[in-house]
Amino acid sequence: MNREPKIGFVSLGCPKALVDSERILTRLRTEGYGVAPTYEAADLVVINTCGFIDAAVTESLEAIGEALAGNGKVIVTGCLGAKGDVVRDLHPSVLAVTGPHACEEVMAAIHTHLPRPHDPFLDLTPPQGVKLTPRHYAYLKIAEGCNHRCTFCIIPQLRGDLVSRPVGEVLREAETLVRAGVRELLVISQDTSAYGVDLRYRTGFWNGRPFKTRMTPLAAALGELGVWIRLHYVYPYPHVDEVVPLMAAGKLVPYLDVPLQHASPRILKAMKRPANTGDTLERIRRWREICPELTLRSTFIVGFPGETEQDFERLLEFLAAAKLDRVGCFTYSPVAGAAANQLPDPVPEAVKQERQARLMAAQAKISAERLRRKIGRTLTVLVDAIDEQGTAIARSTADAPEIDGVVYVEGGSALRVGEFAEVRVADTDEHDLYAKRL
Ligand code: SF4
Repeated sequence: MNREPKIGFVSLGCPKALVDSERILTRLRTEGYGVAPTYEAADLVVINTCGFIDAAVTESLEAIGEALAGNGKVIVTGCLGAKGDVVRDLHPSVLAVTGPHACEEVMAAIHTHLPRPHDPFLDLTPPQGVKLTPRHYAYLKIAEGCNHRCTFCIIPQLRGDLVSRPVGEVLREAETLVRAGVRELLVISQDTSAYGVDLRYRTGFWNGRPFKTRMTPLAAALGELGVWIRLHYVYPYPHVDEVVPLMAAGKLVPYLDVPLQHASPRILKAMKRPANTGDTLERIRRWREICPELTLRSTFIVGFPGETEQDFERLLEFLAAAKLDRVGCFTYSPVAGAAANQLPDPVPEAVKQERQARLMAAQAKISAERLRRKIGRTLTVLVDAIDEQGTAIARSTADAPEIDGVVYVEGGSALRVGEFAEVRVADTDEHDLYAKRL
């Protein structure tokens, strides 16, 4: 198409709908689309509908009918779009239907049916954007900010309260990444299990199907993409239990990164974190019952103000009982502006260091024991690199990049980076596995 592609736009309804229309039209103009004054002059028509009262519904449905008769290519958005199948029942030939406040979804539908005009600058960028990770894995950020107020943390001050990205937008990004060759998506945010709370779990659309902006439906939809999906920074809310069956069913990587921070109820309370450790142990037991393959990763802080030897021992007892697979441990350090700085009884630096060393030594045995159980087993691994000796450096589902161990695959020179391979585990140490190609 040599001339600019033209969109006909009909905006119905209240000022909120008008603002949505303005946003979509602004995006269209920025991307080089023109606006057509008639159905006949347009290449495609967008109708922003209203569904507030019956009269508005009728007007919207009539407008869709007129646009279909006058043009034929129609995308419907707005309040009526959110009302189930009302639009599709009467007008099955519409190209796409979204709810209100769905600029990204509408733009995606427009791109599908009327490709964006060539832009010499934008078109130099790959569709998945510029990535700093290797080609075969990518981070998928689903939200920014946090609604918690953990006393050691200033992220909410720096980044504000939770702001979730619309589910349709996240899923489209994930799809684009997979199309570009990504084999593993690492879902991140400050607080992944809170995803969508700020949007009241609003329904969004992906490939014409409705999805709630919420961790479990998002995870289930990502699980359809056929690549490894790994969840990070999952705050231990009760609904975390819902994603474990998805892991057992092979939809998600059986891996949960749940930062627990401590196990002494007194310290957890001072940190403003959920403080029922007994409950956490029971949940871990149940998760493993549902998904025996589950790898659990967590991080802890030692030397928090007021932490006594007794509190610390409670943490060690918890670790001995929980038998987590991977553990990170930080010594508490006061961050300027954190509420915990005002707490009494700071722990001397030497004691913090000593506790960190004790915790890591105790956990090293647990991690090594958990890894040893894998000797003789067959695993699927994803190859990250091949070293000069021809050993492939790969990861299993139990290993997140950069933070966990790796799987060294002997004689892996025939493998390619970004490829999945089947290996048999021959040996382990405290972090890594040593395997042979099958
Ligand atoms: S530690 Fe995590 S959950 Fe707590 S306030 Fe900071 S970002 Fe939020």
